[in-house]
Amino acid sequence: MTTYNFAAGPAMLPVEVIAQIKADLPDYKGSGMSVMEISHRSPLYMDLYEETKADMLEIMGLDPEKYDVLFLQGGATQQFTLVPLNQARKFHRIAVVDSGHWAQRAAEDAGKVPGMSVDTVATAKDNNYTAVPKIPVEFTHDYDYLHITTNNTIMGTAYRDAAVPKLDLPLVADMSSNFLGEQYDFSKFDLIYAGAQKNLAPAGLTVVVFKKDWVHKNDDLAGLFDYATEAKKKSALNTPPVFQVYVAGLVLKWIKSKGGLKGIEALNQEKAKTLYDCLEASDLFASKVDPASRSLMNVPFVTGDKELDQEFVKAAAAHHLLNLKGHRLVGGMRASIYNAMPLAGVQALCDFIQEFEDQHK
Ligand code: PMP
Repeated sequence: MTTYNFAAGPAMLPVEVIAQIKADLPDYKGSGMSVMEISHRSPLYMDLYEETKADMLEIMGLDPEKYDVLFLQGGATQQFTLVPLNQARKFHRIAVVDSGHWAQRAAEDAGKVPGMSVDTVATAKDNNYTAVPKIPVEFTHDYDYLHITTNNTIMGTAYRDAAVPKLDLPLVADMSSNFLGEQYDFSKFDLIYAGAQKNLAPAGLTVVVFKKDWVHKNDDLAGLFDYATEAKKKSALNTPPVFQVYVAGLVLKWIKSKGGLKGIEALNQEKAKTLYDCLEASDLFASKVDPASRSLMNVPFVTGDKELDQEFVKAAAAHHLLNLKGHRLVGGMRASIYNAMPLAGVQALCDFIQEFEDQHK
C-alpha cells in the first residue's frame, strides 16, 4: 500500500525527484563526489546555483535583470527579523495584515527590531481566522512596506492572486506554504520569502526573491544579514546549503515538466476540489474555512468531536495516510496537499474519510 505524507512541512517531495537524488547521490555529474561533498566554490556548484536561480525566476515570470534570488538558511522565521532590519529604513514603521498565526509571528519579531513600529492594518480576528481579511490599499501613515502571508498554513486560508492588489507601497510576502504552488503576478511583490521545506526542498533552505532596485547595502549590518551583500556574494558569503539548493533545482525542473505554475496550479486545484467536495458531501466531517478563502495547500477539517478526531488520525495512519493531525493551536485534522502530493493521495484520503464515516454512522 502506498504511503502518503500529509505533513505541513517538512513535506513530501515528488517521487521523481527522490528517484533522481538516489541516482545522482554517489557521483554528482561525474565528479566522483556526492553533491553533499562538493565545494560551494567549485564551478559545479556555481553552475548549479546559476541554473537554479534562473529556473526559479523563469517559473515566476520575473526578469532576472530586475529581480534577484537569495538561497539562505535560518528559515522563514529568520526573515521575520531580516526583512524589517533591511527594508524598514526610512519610516521605521511597517504595516502588517494579521491573517493568522505566522503573520502574527512575523509582526511580533519585526516589533523587536529596535525603533520599529508595527501597525496591524487588517485582521481576521473577527472571523476567527476562517477567512483572509481584505488587503487595504490606502494607509493613514507612511510605511516602509506592507507585509502579508499569502497562505495561512494552520488555518488553511489563502490570498489567491486576484485578492492581492497592486499597491503604491512596497509589498512583502511570506509565501512559505504556497510558494510555487499556484500562479501569482509576482511582479506585484517587492520581496517574497519562503522556507523551502513545504514545496521546494528539504528543510535548511530559505528563498528570498526581491526587486533589485528596492534593496540597498546597509553598512551597519553584518554581511550575513544584509541582502545586498548576500546578493553580491551569490548567497555564498558563508557555506550555503548545497544539497538543498540541488534538490530545489530538481524540483524546479519537475515544476517545468508539469507545465510550470499554470500546470501545477491546475493539478493543485483538482486535488483541493476533490478534498473540499468530499468534506462538503460528508455528514461527519467539515471544513470551517470560508470557501472564498480556501487554501489549495492546507486543508484543516474536523468532526466536531475531539476524541473522534484523534481516532481518525490514528486510523488513517494505520492506512498509510500519515501526519493528518491538525496544528496544536486548532486541533482536528489538517491535510497538507502541496505540489508533490499526487491526486491519488487525495483520493485515498477521501476514500478513507468515506469509510470512516460509514463505520461511525
Ligand atoms: N511562515 C509560514 C506561513 C509557515 O507555515 C511557517 C512554518 N510552518 C513559517 C513561516 C516558519 O518557517 P520556518 O520553520 O522555515 O522558519
